[in-house]
Amino acid sequence: MSRSVLLTGASVAGNTAAWWLGRAGFAVTVVERAPAFRDGGQNIDVRGPGREVLRRMGLERAALDRGTGEQGTAWVEEDGRIVARFLTQDHGSDGPTAEMEILRGDLSRLLHEPAACHATYRYDDSIAGVDQDGEGADVTFASGRTERYDAVIVAERVGSRTRELVFPGERDPCWMDLSLAYFTIPRVADDDRLWRWYHAVGGRSVSLRPDRHGTTRAMLSVQKRPGGEQEWSIDRQKAWLRDTFADAGWQSARVLAEMDTTDDFYFDVLRQVRMKRWSNGRVALTGDAADGGGCARGAEARAPMVGGWTELFFRKKALGASAAASGAMVATGAAYVAIAAKADRTAAATAVPFVAWLCSATLLAERIRRDNPSHGVPVEKGGR
Ligand SMILES: Cc1cc2nc3c(=O)[nH]c(=O)nc-3n(C[C@H](O)[C@H](O)[C@H](O)COP(=O)(O)OP(=O)(O)OC[C@H]3O[C@@H](n4cnc5c(N)ncnc54)[C@H](O)[C@@H]3O)c2cc1C
Repeated sequence: MSRSVLLTGASVAGNTAAWWLGRAGFAVTVVERAPAFRDGGQNIDVRGPGREVLRRMGLERAALDRGTGEQGTAWVEEDGRIVARFLTQDHGSDGPTAEMEILRGDLSRLLHEPAACHATYRYDDSIAGVDQDGEGADVTFASGRTERYDAVIVAERVGSRTRELVFPGERDPCWMDLSLAYFTIPRVADDDRLWRWYHAVGGRSVSLRPDRHGTTRAMLSVQKRPGGEQEWSIDRQKAWLRDTFADAGWQSARVLAEMDTTDDFYFDVLRQVRMKRWSNGRVALTGDAADGGGCARGAEARAPMVGGWTELFFRKKALGASAAASGAMVATGAAYVAIAAKADRTAAATAVPFVAWLCSATLLAERIRRDNPSHGVPVEKGGR
């Protein structure tokens, strides 16, 4: 018997899941809130496991063919002079410009076309309510329709509304102190095949990237504490950017002028979603709606490292080695705190007591080793 799955959100995650589930024999319905398929968006650099997924879908070659043609990344001065440059040809697939750079809209369409052979797509609708029992989920839609599914998968982006319905109050937001605007502007003769990135004082940056559609992709970013800008109207967001970038220099004036007439303005305040779980009964999260890792990932490595140190210190009584091990953990822990603090101050702060504890462990192991020069800790009779 074919099982029914409802997917919400027809972008990168939703189309990918629709393809795999549809091919596996599930009856898949995808509901997208927008009135039609959404093009738009800028470069997604597909690396590592993402590229492997495309390979297994038979889409790797097609994705490379639809690439932006960006040849590298250059940091420029106010007068446009290049001060640093990383060319893709020198850095292989993993430089700042990846080998596979594809516009979000192109990637989503590439995934959507084969997925549509395995799933039914409905636009201009969204979930208004979910009532689940042990057997399935009754879904009420904004359109008034009600349907029952065996499972519901939410692929609705960072600010997912359905996630708030099904996992109320469970989201632990991690704000990244970066407000961004992306939009398309007309290409001019001077625009080359490099991602040109200019940093002005005040945490402001302007970047221009080539695409394969004969236009140029502009980005404005401001490093600042978030102030709810993602909830503002587009007019207010644009007015704020106009004000903020008025004296930023380089190509700011051109970008601000074109921002007024662009038809794909996209604004967001960078954040991560951190969830303690990704499923609740018959409802699961995927893509940006689920992303639960991020800065806290450093913590995952701690358990085996501490286990190794404990083994050396308590069981093997190898005090010199245990001092060296805990010393190495102090160094890597401190480096983790420094890096994490740039992206997620809360996650970084949680690691500080651990690093402090490791310092004490290092000092303790070294002190005991010095006081017991031949054997380290005396082993009690009958001890291990
Ligand atoms: C138009 C657009 C432009 C983007 N531009 C960029 C960019 O320039 N650079 C960048 O790094 N990232 C961009 N992103 C985000 C990027 O696509 C994602 O970070 C990443 O690809 C993960 O994709 P996702 O499918 O999880 O989420 P998303 O790509 O965000 O897609 C979520 C989809 O769910 C739909 N949706 C939202 N709420 C509901 C709802 N309640 N019911 C049904 N459908 C819903 C949205 O319309 C969208 O189609 C953009 C996203 C979109 C939608």
